[in-house]
Amino acid sequence: MEELSRILEKAVTEPKALSVAELSKLVSLSDEGAVREMRSAAYELKCKYCGKVVSMRGIIELGNICAKDCFYCGIRKSNLNVERYQLSLEDVERLARINYEDDYASIVLQSGEIEGDAHTEFIEECIKRIIAVAPPGKEPLGITLSLGEQTEDVFRRWKEAGADRYLLRIETSNPKLYRKLHPHSHDFERRVECLRMLRRCGYQVGTGVMSCLPGQTFDDLANDIKFFGDIDVDMIGMGPYIPHNDTPLGKIAPYIENSERLRLGLNMISAVRLYLHDVNIASTTALQALADDGREQGILAGANVMMPNITDTKYRGNYKLYENKPCLDENAEQTRKSLELRLKNIGEAINYGKRGDSPHFMKLE
Ligand code: SAH
Repeated sequence: MEELSRILEKAVTEPKALSVAELSKLVSLSDEGAVREMRSAAYELKCKYCGKVVSMRGIIELGNICAKDCFYCGIRKSNLNVERYQLSLEDVERLARINYEDDYASIVLQSGEIEGDAHTEFIEECIKRIIAVAPPGKEPLGITLSLGEQTEDVFRRWKEAGADRYLLRIETSNPKLYRKLHPHSHDFERRVECLRMLRRCGYQVGTGVMSCLPGQTFDDLANDIKFFGDIDVDMIGMGPYIPHNDTPLGKIAPYIENSERLRLGLNMISAVRLYLHDVNIASTTALQALADDGREQGILAGANVMMPNITDTKYRGNYKLYENKPCLDENAEQTRKSLELRLKNIGEAINYGKRGDSPHFMKLE
């Protein structure tokens, strides 16, 4: 306990102060009292840098057509049990309007990974329509893209069309583990290079990893956190790996209790907050899949962003990255009301009308 207090004190005093061994120790905590001590230190930092508010970005799951074949993901190319879909421009515009009227101020476009001219132009058009949703003179929605690896030219075109942020999870910063989780055609180095390209293009850059992956160690997770610091990201989106039955990894992944997956996911949030201090950290849907109040627990562990799903319910069943993905049948209005209440119960409020840019990025500007 004394050692933990020393680590926490060092962590809150200045960012990036902890060693891999110290981060590993934080991530591995399981004693209830120790976990509580770490979470409250991380939550205090969250309140210091972001206030007692949670920034919202409605997430549109644009489509599940994917050229990749990641061994863990339910929408991988080889999963023939998924009905593939793609939203239209009109769908995107309508959902963006709902998001604007909800006063969330930011929006995320996410999809399976596809490259090509038609797709590039489609996304450009989506961005333009989303911007046009705000009446003249009003600030348009902040736009985050999560559309996988692309060329630098494509990243630049989307930035010029008006996108602000880009999320591209590295999934694991250990190249050997990355290799085990993906076919050989998926290149770890290219993904890292994409993060550098995004920075060059002027995006607020987000990355993240999954925790609880088969074969992953606490040191791997500690090194993931170091990796975030080394590439100097602005935003983090992480969540525990949750098996999907129709995937190669889902078939062989050892059984792990939900409570354990959740604890590790929350420990990662706290450790990242304690290490990086001023970045945006998302409390992701995967946490909610593990416990009804998983996302609220994520906020109390140090996260400051939520990404409620605003995709039409008829498509949600086809964007199942993992089993038990929550809110498959809840519409946008129900989502907003229930989130508002849930946050109020933990003493937090929705950051209505604010884009919620990463404090880390704003400092660089
Ligand atoms: N294709 C896009 C984003 C869509 S998937 C891209 O490559 O960036 C979004 C994220 O879902 C992935 O980055 C991955 O970290 C996560 N994910 C995929 N399968 C998962 C699973 N079985 N459990 C938990 N998270 C998963």
